[in-house]
Amino acid sequence: MDTSWVVIIPAAGTGSRFGGSLPKQYVELDGVSILVRTVRNALAHPSVTAVVVAVHPSMMDHASNLLGHLDERIVVVEGDVERQHSIARCLQHPACASADVILVHDAVRPFATAALFERVGVAAALHGAAIPAVPVTDTIKQIDADGFITTTLPRASLRAAQTPQGFRRSVLIHAYEHAAAEGVVGTDDASLVEALGGRVTTVEGMGSNIKITTQLDMDIAHHLLRMHGLA
Ligand code: C5P
Repeated sequence: MDTSWVVIIPAAGTGSRFGGSLPKQYVELDGVSILVRTVRNALAHPSVTAVVVAVHPSMMDHASNLLGHLDERIVVVEGDVERQHSIARCLQHPACASADVILVHDAVRPFATAALFERVGVAAALHGAAIPAVPVTDTIKQIDADGFITTTLPRASLRAAQTPQGFRRSVLIHAYEHAAAEGVVGTDDASLVEALGGRVTTVEGMGSNIKITTQLDMDIAHHLLRMHGLA
């Protein structure tokens, strides 16, 4: 049976910690912008029928020029003030209406492979919601407002959440409607499903699926490109 997966890519952030004027998703890695690399990876999965990218209103022309000629499955929409609101706008686009599974993937994670999209999408179709997760190697502490430790969390049960995060369309729509009605704001999409009592399964993430945030991440990204022969 043919199945339709839509990938939403929130790319409307304005943060640039590299000292340049461009938000980090537009910075080039060996001549190709991080955003283009991320979108290409999403398009590489055969079940993906559309990639909906949220961009900052001031970057609409820039993003359309970058992405417009790449593939006819790409749709560019205006983002909003918070990541969650940018995604909510993407969900309203008609391209999402017939999706069986919707995967939300950060623009600044250019190393997610088609195999990772496959793992997440298949688990999402089966369980309703699925995210890639990796064990944490640091011991994680909870601290108070003065910086003193209040709790040490048991590391064996902790995981770092990555994207793409996948959902049956109805599950994600319900979670976003609930979040809007109750004023729930989360730093990822799974937490919105958790907030309404939904179960989210985890699949094995990828150590190399880094979120490029700092200059050190850029240096690591260059190294990963060389390691994988992508440079
Ligand atoms: O804010 P954070 O670094 O977690 O951003 C994760 C992703 O969400 C980035 O790809 C960023 O461009 C996107 N974002 C967005 N709309 C916002 C803020 C962030 O699409 N208003």
